[in-house]
Amino acid sequence: MEEKLNIKFNKSLGQNFIFDTNLLKAIVNDAGVDSNTNVLEIGTGAGTLTKEIALKANKVVSYEIDQNLKPTIQQNLCELHNVNVVFKDVMKEETSVIESNFEGQYVMVANLPYYITTPIIFKFLETAKNLKTMVIMVQKEVAERLCAKENTADYGAITAVINAVANTKITRIVKRNMFIPAPNVDSAVVRIDFDKNKYDIKSFENLSKLIKCAFHMRRKTLINNLKNLNLSKDKIENAFKVLNLNSNVRGEALSPEQFVKLSNLLFD
Ligand code: SAM
Repeated sequence: MEEKLNIKFNKSLGQNFIFDTNLLKAIVNDAGVDSNTNVLEIGTGAGTLTKEIALKANKVVSYEIDQNLKPTIQQNLCELHNVNVVFKDVMKEETSVIESNFEGQYVMVANLPYYITTPIIFKFLETAKNLKTMVIMVQKEVAERLCAKENTADYGAITAVINAVANTKITRIVKRNMFIPAPNVDSAVVRIDFDKNKYDIKSFENLSKLIKCAFHMRRKTLINNLKNLNLSKDKIENAFKVLNLNSNVRGEALSPEQFVKLSNLLFD
């Protein structure tokens, strides 16, 4: 199959493509794309997902790092007039420049390259202004982390940060044999709906700093990890008292909402 497609897959760029039209349509459906929706795709690949998005959306802007895919992409997308493929590394493009492609809100629909899934998520989480929803294919383990509840092994810094500003859910599990070439792991599609007013966050930057610090040494108590923030002992003790937190509590026991409250008190 790989030979028949006449594509030279570059493994180091996370090139595992999807050609199954039913699955592609299902992903577009998970994102609720309609003729009013503007979509950002990351990783055009052969343009298979791009095409299914474009058939439903108002406009698609798709970033692809690999110039070698240009002829394949041109061939597969030439009949569509609402697609703009940008041949650039999305991590090197300012988010404001990416967002200037759209007037107002947009959604991300992407089968993400696995080697940079987390940096891409954090980039948009921390800098995007008009991103409404992300519907992203990621490794199944990453999907489970994004949607985990506190006090579970999967719950980590990325879970708490994302769920402080968004609601997350897995919409489908995708077996490895649906990709060409097949990766070594199964995948899942995660839908992330941003709701910046979910909790009353005084500073997202401080919240993010606190959460990353709380999970720095997972087996350490929260108080021990917080020492890296150079806050006064009084401030920490007072915040723990107000929130009724035990001094032995670990970061993994705090819900996203509790992290928001703690951050608001610590950086007051
Ligand atoms: N959307 C296609 C599909 O579903 O078949 C391709 C998905 S493939 C998992 C990920 C794509 O992201 C690859 O085409 C890869 O070249 C591209 N990519 C990898 N790193 C990138 C980056 N930093 N910026 C933009 N695209 C990137």
